[in-house]
Amino acid sequence: MTGSQVLLKILEVGLCGTDREIGTFQYGTPPPGSDHLVLGHEALAEVTATGPDVTLVRKGDLVVPTVRRPCPHARCHPCHAERQDFCITGDFREQGIKETHGFLQEWVVEEEEHLVLVPRLLSDVAVLTEPLTVAAKAAEQAQAVQGRLPWESARVRALALGAGPVGLLGAMSMVVNHFDTFVYSLEPATSERADLVRSFGATYVSGQDVPLAELGKRVGTFDIIYEAVGVSKVAFAALEALGPNGLFIFTGIPAHGGSNPVDTDTLMRNVVLKNQLILGTVNAGRSSYELALRELEQGMFLFPESVRALITHRVPIQEAPSLITGQGGIKQVVQLASARVT
Ligand code: BGC
Repeated sequence: MTGSQVLLKILEVGLCGTDREIGTFQYGTPPPGSDHLVLGHEALAEVTATGPDVTLVRKGDLVVPTVRRPCPHARCHPCHAERQDFCITGDFREQGIKETHGFLQEWVVEEEEHLVLVPRLLSDVAVLTEPLTVAAKAAEQAQAVQGRLPWESARVRALALGAGPVGLLGAMSMVVNHFDTFVYSLEPATSERADLVRSFGATYVSGQDVPLAELGKRVGTFDIIYEAVGVSKVAFAALEALGPNGLFIFTGIPAHGGSNPVDTDTLMRNVVLKNQLILGTVNAGRSSYELALRELEQGMFLFPESVRALITHRVPIQEAPSLITGQGGIKQVVQLASARVT
């Protein structure tokens, strides 16, 4: 290894909806000149060798690599400030998604500045860090923008819309932040996901019992709604349940082409008369990874079995293709190697 390079042995890679979209050619771009793209952006790795200038990690450490790489343009202030998650040119790259191969391979050489150190105690769940950065970055943004209000965490009513991995991790993060937390999803109130939601202290509301259009009236309005369904029709319908001074956070990335009627008069009227904020967020800078790891640690202290239950599949690399093209379970993880026992 030279300079600040680090040789990583990839241990685990989580799969998500983005990988499925890339796997079905709806999203993603291979590196220039390449006819393929190696998938994998939710990784956990072990440091096996370091260049002479590396100071932040050493052999044997567990790390999570970040996903976004900066654009090359001098005028992009966010990329120069290492906040490529706020890149203004769109020419950023994303490992395993946009113009750079991902981590679904045995060995990777990475610059140390793109690595985040993971406490060894979190080794069995740290592959959840990257999807948790979605919630962590949202929490950082919420903290910043809701600083405009008198704000008391224990009185905040927060809703995660959707019970996929991003919604469930978002809900866990809200519980850790002492919010009165709800999850709204289609699965029945007797489903395993509903049980999982209750197991970490949140309230589950099934779309089979309460239609979305009646959520605000029947369950009460929310100070924060964290959208994690990626379906714009559902997301906009949920705006009805946003309370006064509320913050609505979009995290899903729907495919282009859908066109749904929205009552823009009511939307605009509410946003103004109720001081509401609508915010989009894409992950994530280093601070969000660090916050995600702290939240994961808190989650493992408060409800370890619920956190572990999010990982529903661990499969060898040979079985990865069927997971990418299939569905089912919460978080599917490809296991490439085991961490060295220290
Ligand atoms: C990844 C993000 C990425 C986004 C858009 C998500 O699945 O977690 O890192 O920015 O897709 O490509």
